[in-house]
Amino acid sequence: MPRLGVLGWPVAHSRSPAIHNAALAALGMEGWRYQRLPVPPALFAQTTRALGSAGFVGANVTIPHKQAALELATHASLAAREIGAANTLTFADDGSIAAENTDAPGLIAALGALTDMPAHPHALVLGAGGSARAVAWALREAGASSVAVWNRTPERARTLARELGVEAVPVPGPADLLVNCTSVGLQAPVGIERSATEGEALNQLGMTFDQVGKYSYVVDLVYRSGPTPLLAAAAAHGAGTVDGLDVLVAQGALSFELWTGRTAPLEVMRRAVREEDDAQA
Ligand code: NAP
Repeated sequence: MPRLGVLGWPVAHSRSPAIHNAALAALGMEGWRYQRLPVPPALFAQTTRALGSAGFVGANVTIPHKQAALELATHASLAAREIGAANTLTFADDGSIAAENTDAPGLIAALGALTDMPAHPHALVLGAGGSARAVAWALREAGASSVAVWNRTPERARTLARELGVEAVPVPGPADLLVNCTSVGLQAPVGIERSATEGEALNQLGMTFDQVGKYSYVVDLVYRSGPTPLLAAAAAHGAGTVDGLDVLVAQGALSFELWTGRTAPLEVMRRAVREEDDAQA
C-alpha cells in the first residue's frame, strides 16, 4: 500500500491529511493513504531514512524539521538549496531521498487568484523565519520589482536579505503586495476582547489598521478559523486577499503531483480544507 504523510512535531493540527486524502479519494487511488507522522527532532533523521522501506512514497515536512529534511536528503532542488529548507521529500526504490520546496512555487500559484495584480509588484514580506525565506525567494524568482523584508528582530531580516539578495527594511514601507510570514494572528480571539486583540496583532506586525489600507494585495500565510486580523483589516480596506489555507492547498497540490504524477484535483483539495476548517470552528 503506497503511503504518504506529514512529518512534524507537533503535527496534530496539520490540515494536510484532509487535503491529500480527499485528493486520493477523488482520483480513485484506492490503497494510497496520507497520515500524520509525529516525530520529535531527536528521532527525525533515523525515522525519515526508514520511511522508504516502510512503503512511503513521499512526505511533507513541517515545523521544526524543514532544515533537517534538506540536510538528510541525498539530493535537493535548487529552490530547496537556496531557500535552505525542504517541505517535500520523495523516497525512491534505490533508497535515495529527494528534497523539494513547494512552499515557494505554491505561494506564486496562490497569487494567481489576484488576477488584477501587477505582473511585477513591489512586495513587502513580514517575518524572517522559514516561510519568509521561501516567500522572499519565490517573489524574487518570479520577477517582483522589489522585495523588502521587515522583521521584529531586525538582524534576522538583514541576514535573510543578504543571503537571498533582497532588501531588509527597518519599518514596513509602501508596496503593492504584502505577505505576512510571521506567526502573528494564529490565536483566534474570543468575545469582546476581539477588536483589542486584533489591534494588538497589527501592532506586532509594525502597523496600524489604517496603514494596512496602503496595500492593494495582502496574503497571510497564517491560517486559523475565520479571517486573521491582517486579512480582516485588508478586506475592510477593499484589498485583494489570499488566505493561508489557499497557500497550503497550493503547496500541497504541487507535492501531490510530484509523488503521484497525477494532476492534483485543486477544487476537491480546497473544499476538503475548508470543510475541516468549518468542523473546527
Ligand atoms: P518561524 O520560522 O518560526 O518564524 C516565525 C516568524 O514570526 C519570525 O519572523 C518571528 O520573528 C515572527 N514572530 C513570531 N511571533 C511574533 C510576534 N509576537 N511579533 C512579531 N513577530 C513575531 O515560522 P515559519 O515556519 O516561518 O511560519 C510562520 C507562520 O506561517 C506560521 O504560523 C505557520 O503556520 C505559517 N505557515 C503557513 C504556511 C501555509 O502553507 N499557509 C506555510 C508555512 C508556514 P522573530 O524573528 O523576531 O522571532
